[in-house]
Amino acid sequence: MKVVVDLNLCQGYAQCCYEAPDTFKLKGAEILVYDYAPNKRLRGEIERAVQACPVRAISVEMDDQQEAEND
Ligand code: SF4
Repeated sequence: MKVVVDLNLCQGYAQCCYEAPDTFKLKGAEILVYDYAPNKRLRGEIERAVQACPVRAISVEMDDQQEAEND
């Protein structure tokens, strides 16, 4: 699983940080830092973060082969 945030869109609203705190964090007032390749057990909360982002800045790519290997 790969996570990409379009930082040109991100406004630092931090909704993603509340939904998936292990993956997204705000550094200072509005600089978002995040895990590009989070553990797949976090998939549910990351999907909630995608939905929660008011500017739809977060996208997730699933790597099916990698997912199968991790099972
Ligand atoms: S919810 Fe969206 S706009 Fe807010 S910090 Fe996260 S990625 Fe940025």
